[in-house]
Amino acid sequence: MKSYRKELWFEVPTRRAFINITSEVEACLRESGIKEGLILVNAMHITASVFINDDESGLHLDYEEWLERLAPHAPVSQYKHNIGEDNADAHMKRQIMGREVVVAVTNGKLDFGTWERIFYGEFDGKRKKRVLVKIIGD
Ligand code: ZN
Repeated sequence: MKSYRKELWFEVPTRRAFINITSEVEACLRESGIKEGLILVNAMHITASVFINDDESGLHLDYEEWLERLAPHAPVSQYKHNIGEDNADAHMKRQIMGREVVVAVTNGKLDFGTWERIFYGEFDGKRKKRVLVKIIGD
């Protein structure tokens, strides 16, 4: 069995963003040489997510509004976590959108449904953050 590990780095200039990272993950898969196995992609920070969904800009705006209704950023004083920081909402948004995805690798490709794409969800940006890509298989 082969094993491959890589960190993808992001520095989002805004507080929140959704970034399609499918092509970066596919590049990792090509580099690994693995044809059959599993790929794990996870955010290495507790205020960022990795998730799979549609690459459709209206949906991403809907997510932004939905998350902001569930866990509004302001007023920051509404959260007990915000003693000396202001990112309690980002921890909650990350919890809802998830830490990681696992995708089957078949015939050297991500074995996706038709509209599935992998996204990095940033909820407390303007600093460098990492995503781990781990691939195992043959
Ligand atoms: Zn925090």
